[in-house]
Amino acid sequence: MNKHKRAEFFSRLRSQNPRPTTELRYETPFELLVAVILSAQATDKSVNKVTGKLFRVANTPEALLALGEEGFREHIKSIGLFNSKARNILKTCRILVDRYQGRVPEQRQDLEALPGVGRKTANVLLNTAFGHPTIAVDTHIFRVANRTGLAPGKTPLAVEKRLLKVVPDEFKQDAHHWIILHGRYVCAARKPRCADCVVADLCDYRHKNIPPAHTHPARAVSSG
Ligand code: SF4
Repeated sequence: MNKHKRAEFFSRLRSQNPRPTTELRYETPFELLVAVILSAQATDKSVNKVTGKLFRVANTPEALLALGEEGFREHIKSIGLFNSKARNILKTCRILVDRYQGRVPEQRQDLEALPGVGRKTANVLLNTAFGHPTIAVDTHIFRVANRTGLAPGKTPLAVEKRLLKVVPDEFKQDAHHWIILHGRYVCAARKPRCADCVVADLCDYRHKNIPPAHTHPARAVSSG
């Protein structure tokens, strides 16, 4: 995909959704941090269901620590990998209280040093809670970037670096959400909805899922 097509790609996604954001519900950076850690290998919907109740009871590091590991686990037990997520989140809470007065730090290296927080989670926090033009490459972004030719790369990090290089500045802040939502709802893993895709003419994918032109039965009969 060339430079002009890339700009057009984002311009069309922006026209459809001028203010994209995460589908995880949150009010504060800390709530987003907890929601993103919980969302690993879980749907945003399942996470929202849990956090909707949890955050009414406890939405600060101090309050989560006060629940204790068992109490916290009870709240999140419907989410996959809840045991290790509970442990990581509580360890993170302890660090936030001891080192950052209970606040979420805004520096990448500080975020990545928190238990349960890798580069992707740090990028989500930097982008969505703090407004930095970072791009968190998840499974959807990795697929769409490679499939469309937008920013091909063999690893999530390679795709992230390429996207940061090629996405025009005016789209960088929101690129992450536009691509994720496009991947989630249109350019799906198994059956991309190419016939309904607003960027189909810009996309390099060779195996587009466009059904062959349907022949109307009446015409088929009269021409036969
Ligand atoms: S045309 Fe198909 S493969 Fe290309 S971006 Fe659209 S949905 Fe994805």
